[in-house]
Order: sequence, then C-alpha cells, then structure tokens
Amino acid sequence: MKWILVTGGSRGIGAAIARLAAARGYAVAVNYRSRAEEAERLVAELGAPAVALQADLSRESEVLRLFAELDKLGGVLHGLVNNAGILEQQSDLLGIGEERLQRVFATNVFGPLLCCREAVRRMGGGGAIVNVSSAAARLGSPGEYVDYAASKGALDTLTLGLAKELGARGIRVNGVRPGVIHTEIHASGGEPGRADRVGPTAPLGRSGQPEEVAGAVLWLLSEEASYTTGAILDVAGGR
Ligand code: NAP
Repeated sequence: MKWILVTGGSRGIGAAIARLAAARGYAVAVNYRSRAEEAERLVAELGAPAVALQADLSRESEVLRLFAELDKLGGVLHGLVNNAGILEQQSDLLGIGEERLQRVFATNVFGPLLCCREAVRRMGGGGAIVNVSSAAARLGSPGEYVDYAASKGALDTLTLGLAKELGARGIRVNGVRPGVIHTEIHASGGEPGRADRVGPTAPLGRSGQPEEVAGAVLWLLSEEASYTTGAILDVAGGR
C-alpha cells in the first residue's frame, strides 16, 4: 500500500488533494488540527484505504506522534503534501507582533520542515514531497499579511534546498504556489469574501477552486513528474 500524507487535509485545498489522491489509487492519511468531524466525514467518503490523524503540526512533539501513528498502519510512505497553513487577521506591519509571528512561522515553516525530516526517515525507496506555498511568496501581501508571505518565501527556499539535498536518495521535492482560491482561509484573515473581490484582477478573471490546485499537486507526486524536482509551479490564474 502506497500512502500519501496530506497535512491540513480536513477541508479546503487539502481535502481536494486527499480526494484526488484516493481517486488515483493511493492510500490517504488526512491530518487535521481540530475539525475531527470534517476529517472523519472526508475519510468515510474516500472509499480508498484512508485514515484521519489529528496533530497540531506547529509542535515538534505532535509531528513525531503523527508519524508514529502512520508507522502503525503499515505499507510505504510514498508522498508527503505539506499543505497545512495559516494566515491571521489582515494587518499592516505595525500590527504584527511576536506571538503572531511565532504561530505563523511555526505552522507554515517549522511544521513542514519537521514533517519533511520525518517523511525522509521513512522514504527508503524514494518518494515525493510537495510543499503548498502561495503566490504571496512572490507578491509580498503588503498591508494584509507580509508575515504570511515571508513564511511562504521561506517554504519555497526549503523546497529548493531539499530538492538538491534529497535527489541522491530518489526523493523529489517540489512546490505549488496557489493564487486566490475559494476556501475558508480568507475568513481567518477577516475577509471571507476576499476570493470574490480579488478574483477578477487575475489574468484569467477569477479565483481558483481547490480542485485546480489538487491536479497540480497530484501530477508532481506522480511518475509523470519523475524528472521534476526543485520546481515551484504557479497555479494562480496568471497572477
Ligand atoms: P483552510 O481552508 O483554512 O484549511 C487549512 C487546513 O490546515 C485545515 O485542514 C486545518 O485543520 C489545517 N491546519 C491549520 N493549522 C494546522 C496545524 N497547526 N496543524 C495541522 N493542521 C493545521 O486553508 P486552504 O485555503 O485550504 O489552504 C491550504 C494551503 O494552501 C495553506 O498552506 C495555504 O497557505 C495555501 N494557500 C491557500 C490559498 C487560498 O487562497 N485559499 C492561496 C495560496 C496558498 P482544521 O480543519 O482541523 O482546522
């Protein structure tokens, strides 16, 4: 059995990735932080071998617990999708403080790095990692969340470094940078309708759907991308 671990898979982009991974024949581990009901409902829907695993990946002890639970399932870990991510209330620089920075960087950078480490320990026969970044890493998100944008810039750098470090082990590491996608993340920034407001400014004239990001992620995980590593694919409607 080939497992794909999708962090933050209970909803939004992560849930779309989990659905497509199951449809492509992978066994799917759906990690979530707090929304157990949504994660369990998704797992029941997937049909393929699937499991919901709670862990707050901003903490190393929880990362270790998650992978220990994964070990008990048997089979092989083929893929890790570092999808879990947060942003906070829209704010300019003057409103950003240490506690917020700790939360954003612990979730968006430390967690993915630690998950990469634990995944690599288990990917003896090679594997694939996809880091879900953001177009914000290129655009900077001025006046809204420069901290979030900077955390995604760090994630892109991690993708580049690990692709070089892990190539000899047969592990490919790539990134996907979504533009504005219709999910609940915008509500946590204080603007639930942000996708509708910003969508028309993209060259394709609209915001994206989670399934449109999932397609890119599953391609990067697949054999079709066997010579692709260190790539960061923009899925942002041309933004
Ligand atoms: P979302 O709808 O807010 O879902 C976030 C997911 O991450 C949930 O499953 C949540 O679990 C999980 N999560 C959050 N913190 C976690 C933690 N500490 N440990 C484990 N899981 C955690 O977000 P989304 O829009 O689908 O975003 C997914 C990824 O795409 C993020 O990395 C985000 O930065 C990136 N992205 C999104 C957009 C966009 O416009 N939507 C654009 C660019 C990039 P619970 O359900 O249990 O809370």
